[in-house]
Amino acid sequence: MYALENEGGIKKVKKLDQFLQDNLNDLRDRGLYNEIDPVEGPNGPVIKISGKELINLSSNNYLGLATNDHLKEIAKHAIDQYGVGAGAVRTINGTMDLHVKLEEKLAEFKGTEAAIAYQSGFNCNMAAISGVMDKNDAILSDELNHASIIDGIRLSKAKVIRYNHSDMDDLRAKAKEAAESGLYNKVMVITDGVFSMDGDLAELPEIVEIAKEFNLITYVDDAHGSGVMGKGAGTVKHFGLSKEIDFQIGTLSKAIGVVGGYVAGSKDLIDWLKVRSRPFLFSTALPPGDTAAITAAVQMIMDSTELHDQLWENGRYLKEGLLKLGFDIGKSETPITPCIIGEEKLTQQFSKRLREEGVYAKSIVFPTVPQGTGRVRNMPMATHTKEMLDQALAVYEKVGKELSIIN
Ligand SMILES: *Cc1c(COP(=O)(O)O)cnc(C)c1O
Repeated sequence: MYALENEGGIKKVKKLDQFLQDNLNDLRDRGLYNEIDPVEGPNGPVIKISGKELINLSSNNYLGLATNDHLKEIAKHAIDQYGVGAGAVRTINGTMDLHVKLEEKLAEFKGTEAAIAYQSGFNCNMAAISGVMDKNDAILSDELNHASIIDGIRLSKAKVIRYNHSDMDDLRAKAKEAAESGLYNKVMVITDGVFSMDGDLAELPEIVEIAKEFNLITYVDDAHGSGVMGKGAGTVKHFGLSKEIDFQIGTLSKAIGVVGGYVAGSKDLIDWLKVRSRPFLFSTALPPGDTAAITAAVQMIMDSTELHDQLWENGRYLKEGLLKLGFDIGKSETPITPCIIGEEKLTQQFSKRLREEGVYAKSIVFPTVPQGTGRVRNMPMATHTKEMLDQALAVYEKVGKELSIIN
């Protein structure tokens, strides 16, 4: 539709600049064009934007590892030894011993036989779903699954069957129908481990039960769970289901603090992905500095729960503070703390005022979340101090009263 213009009954193709101007102007007119503010320095507990210091409640750097001194040293050392790039795709000669070590460490971390690393979590979902599923298959997908899962499913050409968010009756009914229809070779169920907009957990024990009943392949993307749930090992471990989930997906860019993604699973699955998943075959391997830093980050999470415990303590403190002030913080089961404002314009106004007062917490509104449930989402970090959180809460109180969200 966008590319066509109706002129005297004949559809004329639109030139690129016309398409871009029309659509950019439309977005700007409707106030939906997102302006990006560069961060001037590290993405730590306090960030600097336009020369102003702000308490950072919007990064996924849960454990503070993105700016960890030990990891910076490891990365620098690996760069000195190996250079800044891997030089090739994994299947030519881009696989360094560093990548092998990383994958062994990831398998140990997740309690699986093997693991495979990709260049990003997004890329990993592109790779893994279409590596195994095709047009003769069906995929049951939670309606709130991450965009990269949705795109990965599309790429596979499998039939997508969406089920209502964490609605196990709906999943069971649709799983039964798909499995007994005789239409599909394989059926997979895919869910986020932790849903990032509300901070709620997938109903993994029930999903596993349904999967067993109908021979479903199980796929859990635990991008927000690794380092956070299960004493750091993730949501699958939290529920004691490490042996039951076929695909454990994670990102290396959130709690792990660097960049990349992975699948952990059986040796056969990983062997298959190494010969069939296209980003592994056709896109250059993770750089050596990053690879070494990731391996060390995973080791740190396995060696000590100190950062994990501090993250949860900070999450608890922030939640308690916001509740006491009278805010609606939804149904989060993780440190992710939404502050639900409701109306979209008011939500954006709230976030803007927080920022003017020194707190960076992004507003998230329709269509990312349902209409009328606009929220400011807070991501506490292990490296926030109590003083920083108290300061943020004081700003929340001031702005909340000013906009009559609390009284
Ligand atoms: C963030 C996220 C991703 C993408 O991970 P990147 O490493 O940033 O590409 C994938 N899946 C889920 C569920 C996520 O939350």
